Order: sequence, then C-alpha cells, then structure tokens
Amino acid sequence: RPRPLIAGNWKMNGLLKGVGELEAIASGIAGGGAGHAETLICPPFTLIARFAAAAAGQHIKIGAQDCHAKPSGAHTGDISAEMLKDCGASYVIVGHSERRTDHGETDADVKAKAEAAQRAGIIGIICIGETRAERESGKALEVVDVQLAGSLPPGATGANVVIAYEPVWAIGTGLTPTTGDIKEVHDFIRAKLIAALGEEGHNVRILYGGSCKPSNAAELMGVDNVDGALVGGASLKAADFLGIAAAY
Ligand code: 13P
Repeated sequence: RPRPLIAGNWKMNGLLKGVGELEAIASGIAGGGAGHAETLICPPFTLIARFAAAAAGQHIKIGAQDCHAKPSGAHTGDISAEMLKDCGASYVIVGHSERRTDHGETDADVKAKAEAAQRAGIIGIICIGETRAERESGKALEVVDVQLAGSLPPGATGANVVIAYEPVWAIGTGLTPTTGDIKEVHDFIRAKLIAALGEEGHNVRILYGGSCKPSNAAELMGVDNVDGALVGGASLKAADFLGIAAAY
C-alpha cells in the first residue's frame, strides 16, 4: 500500500497569525502524532512562502490550492506551478469542486493544471466527486469515471499525482457517505487507475474528502483503498488535524 497522506485544505482562510497553528501541527507530528502518514497543509497563496519557511526541516509539507496551466506570461492575478515550487510548495490541489463551480473549471482545465504540476516538479492532487443530485440519480460512478478520465494527465504516477474523492454534498455539510459507498467509489477509482496506468495504478494515493473530523477519521480511513484524507474545516485547528492524522 502507498504511504498515506493527510492533507489540509485551508481554502480562503488564514492570516499570518495562523503560523502558530501550523507550528502546533508540526510539533504534534514531530511527537509522532501522524504515525507513518505523510502530512501536508495547503494554505492560501499569501501564506505559502512563510509556511514553507516555518515547515523547513519539519515533517510537514506545504502545498497550494490551485495553479495556472502555463509557466509564466500575461495572466494577471494567476500563479504558476513553477512559482509555487519556487516558494517552497511541493503539492498543489487542482480541480477542487469549489473551483469547478466558482470558476467554471472543466476536466480539460484540471488536466492542464495537473500537467503543469508535473512540469514544475510538484505533486498534483486531482479532485473529483459527484453532486447530491448525481448521487441520488445513481450516477456517482459515472461522474467520477468521466472526471477521472478527463483530468488524469498522461505520465501520471504515484510520485506525481494523488486523487481526492470528494463528494460535493459531503463538503462542509457534516454529511459523509457510508463506508460501503466510499469503498465502492475508491475500489472503482483504483480499478480505473490500474486500467489507465498498469501496475503503477496501485501506487497512486486515493484520498477521501468531505466532513472528515477526528470522530469519524478512524472509520473513514479504515476503508479499503482509502490512502488518506483531504480535510477542509477540521484542518484549521491543530488539535483536530492531529486527531485525524492520528487515526491513520
Ligand atoms: P470539509 O472537510 O470542510 O468538509 O471540506 C472538505 C474539502 O473540501 C477539502 O478539500
């Protein structure tokens, strides 16, 4: 099994004073709080360089929440994967459902961003997942299949790509799928990765995301083919994030 990854997505939260929370997470992890899991915090762009400096030499990595597909150029307000790497990021989340909704990102956009991450030498965390209406109409696997096929870049390996299954209806709602439903989707994603990448498909980590918290982490993380978590709200507090990391 691949080494698990417990990743925090701070979304549009966090000011410079949040570095104290990062340091509390790092010291909890230094004390063995994450077992053998790899840990990652993805703060807003404004904090990446500061957090990367604070995390240097610690067992926690720093990532971003989005990138542009191009390395540089006339794209006002955008940030490239090369710039993220330059300021100390080693991961970037691409295609989060909030970006797909708020910014109209398509699978092709997400794939281009994942390729940008590969080009820059950082790991892309590709997010996929169905809406409530899609789940209720029995289309969850079909949606996940189309998103994965459309977003996975050529040359994907366990070293340059992570998949995050985040059912949209579970994000920030306190609702989670049953463990049976999570297993069905994660097993399906694993089979698709093996079909696309051969044996390498076993090495790509598949994270679960959506209302993950310390009280449900052990149950969620115990499901087959769940190789870690992508945590939103509960990653903002060191005690909660460490509680989830400890569950793996
Ligand atoms: P919550 O953990 O707040 O539900 O958010 C999940 C998420 O969107 C992580 O990317």
